[in-house]
Amino acid sequence: MSSNDLHTQGLTQLARGLENGGFTAVELVTALLDRVEAHDTELNAFITVTADTALQAAERADAERNKGETGVLNGLPLVHKDIFCTRGVLTTCGSRMLENFVSPYDATVVERLAGAGAVMLGKTNMDEFAMGSSNETSYFGPVKNPWDLTCSPGGSSGGSAASVAARIAPAATGTDTGGSIRQPAALTGTTGLKPTYGRVSRYGMIAFASSLDQAGVITRSAEDAALLLGVMAGFDVRDSTSIDHPVPDYLAGLGESLQGLRVGIVRQHFDAGLDAATGNAVRDALAVLEAQGASLTEVDLPNLDLSVPTYYVVAPAECSSNLSRFDGIRFGHRAGNPEDLLDMYCRSRGEGFGAEVKRRILTGTYVLSAGYYDAYYLKAQQVRQLIADDFREAFADVDVIAGPTAPAPAFRLGDKTDDPITMYLNDIYTIGANLAGLPGISIPCGFASELPVGLHLVGPHFGEEQLLRTAHQYQLQTDWHTRCPEGYA
Ligand code: GLN
Repeated sequence: MSSNDLHTQGLTQLARGLENGGFTAVELVTALLDRVEAHDTELNAFITVTADTALQAAERADAERNKGETGVLNGLPLVHKDIFCTRGVLTTCGSRMLENFVSPYDATVVERLAGAGAVMLGKTNMDEFAMGSSNETSYFGPVKNPWDLTCSPGGSSGGSAASVAARIAPAATGTDTGGSIRQPAALTGTTGLKPTYGRVSRYGMIAFASSLDQAGVITRSAEDAALLLGVMAGFDVRDSTSIDHPVPDYLAGLGESLQGLRVGIVRQHFDAGLDAATGNAVRDALAVLEAQGASLTEVDLPNLDLSVPTYYVVAPAECSSNLSRFDGIRFGHRAGNPEDLLDMYCRSRGEGFGAEVKRRILTGTYVLSAGYYDAYYLKAQQVRQLIADDFREAFADVDVIAGPTAPAPAFRLGDKTDDPITMYLNDIYTIGANLAGLPGISIPCGFASELPVGLHLVGPHFGEEQLLRTAHQYQLQTDWHTRCPEGYA
């Protein structure tokens, strides 16, 4: 393989190439850094490029390989969403509030991936504090979708998704609170996995809504996602919500056929809110699963319609609490020349946060206030439980639930920015899995208006193996995940 086409390969292929000496990690990293240089001006997918440390890490990876001491990801490049703390590297969370924050420590996810030999190329652009579905709330400007530069790549992990779609990085980390891995994966034709809540440590991942946030990956294929999840997953003493549950060999189970797999379809997912061409692509994908031996049945999730309103009470409530630490004293931007302490707090937060973050903090403070707590926050927690119960009942009869990831393909930048409710509805199919703590994956399954469409699969708690196997078997039969946007081949 020549260094001109290293960017076309996914992680598992690159791992084989490094293994059999086809190229070195330094050659690979150099080739990809050249692509950052060539394409990031138009895409704006990166907030920070760590070229020097990436080359040093690649040299170390090559030296280790020569000594025969290789981790499973030795020399494999990836990018991290700028929500993960990275020691000695700017970690902004897409906000002016953290514009100058250099983290003194690594997030567990970053530490584990680096420990297995992965090489970080840089930190990716994102919606401010992961609040958004289009990447337009970033202080660093919107990311462009490589399939159409006038369109959004989705959000909040839009920089991660765009860099994988544009073949700049073979893989990226992301976080998903209501859909922020799966929706951008759908809108950019990439594979996005959100694991079970507690499967991957949240330590060092800047908190948005702690009971919903989960770290995951955006890759070219389910196989690559399986490779990374095996390294990232597992208990962490530093995250009290991480679960001590054995980590299976996610790659080992991929080969099994789908014969006998019970796939549940949610009727409400195919109602009037779904774009027609998107619906057709998803129905075709379901037919492929059926042809591989899966059986399709309808399942009922009666409370699912309440998932978006429930989320927009719970997530703002938690964010209003989590973001109180950014006060210009303990953390974050500090306003200049304050008149007094109160002025400093008010102006530091006023200047540091953007409009969407302020909207969430105000909503959250309101629903948690003494007079409204029972009416909003408590009620939302009760409905959240009902939604989780619906899923539990459905999984008594089916192994996975399948449907569209997003209601339509990528939308134009600017189209939804004046209308938060329409923006919020982009996550209508993904939010339920976060409220119930379930794993979900989005895989490319076709096109609508020449833009990628995602198939969404949700599994029971710790059902990642089943999801990855289903996605992998589908990807063996189809080539949607190999399609590349024009100009990035
Ligand atoms: N789009 C949703 C929101 O704005 C979800 C974001 C996320 O998953 N981080 O909150």
